[in-house]
Amino acid sequence: MKKIFSALIVSGAALLALPAHAALNVLACEPEWAALATEIGGDKVKASSATTALQDPHRIEARPSLIARTRNAELLVCTGLDLEAGWLPILRQQSGNPKIEPGQPGYLEAGSLVPRLEVPTRLDRAEGDVHAAGNPHIQQDPRNIAKVAEALAQRLAQIDHANAAYYQSRYKDFAARWNAAIQKWERQAAPLKGVAVVEHHKNMEYLLNWLGMRAVGQLEPKPGVEPSAAHLAELAAQLQRQPAKMVLRADYQDGRASQWLSEHARIPAVALPFTVGGDERAKDLFGLFDDTVQRLLDAAK
Ligand SMILES: [Zn+2]
Repeated sequence: MKKIFSALIVSGAALLALPAHAALNVLACEPEWAALATEIGGDKVKASSATTALQDPHRIEARPSLIARTRNAELLVCTGLDLEAGWLPILRQQSGNPKIEPGQPGYLEAGSLVPRLEVPTRLDRAEGDVHAAGNPHIQQDPRNIAKVAEALAQRLAQIDHANAAYYQSRYKDFAARWNAAIQKWERQAAPLKGVAVVEHHKNMEYLLNWLGMRAVGQLEPKPGVEPSAAHLAELAAQLQRQPAKMVLRADYQDGRASQWLSEHARIPAVALPFTVGGDERAKDLFGLFDDTVQRLLDAAK
């Protein structure tokens, strides 16, 4: 009896130590989903990202601190589509957190909610690091973000029922501002229609597709394979016959190959933030696209 009583005191003290409503712990695989969780969850969620904008999301080390954060997550939001195939399974396994298993309410795969580009009709390892479920770099199209926002709001309400109305009202407010911003970006980006670009990796397809631009080549000879001197020389020769306006890369990617092509083809090299935190102006999702559209317009002049 005495034992039970002291156990009650201990658990009572533990309860008192917690804030009245602890914020829901959201772990995102990529910064854009952490930013989106904050837009919709406000102060009812504590969202963080496993990766930063200056890291290659394909290649992350499952460090012990990251495993600990995965263990405490109540909702995991990832792009999926095999983008995290090299590290997320290890995090899942090492964290032993049943809430975030696929199929559980605590896991949201953003990539499965949007129309996908470049779904291969056949898989051939010789073609490089090709993703079976299609191109995973979906956050570069703000219309995709809108689709994920809706599902995320529903999921937050499902997991944290007490705050369902709060999430729904924040979602409505976000969706209205986001749709207005998409219209603004599309108006601003009208001169970019039909503009040809070279990209570093095939990670700009959703952005190019949204704005009606087109890629005529990649710095990588195959997806995930580093640019080689031979391939770059070939690309420079190709651009003489079929010119491009600019060479694009994400801020996390090494700029040397871009710089080489920029000098040889006399076109601007443009580094895009790619996700939230990629540069000074990309402080949130709105800033990400404000900055992306502006950089493209500046380079196309
Ligand atoms: Zn990729």
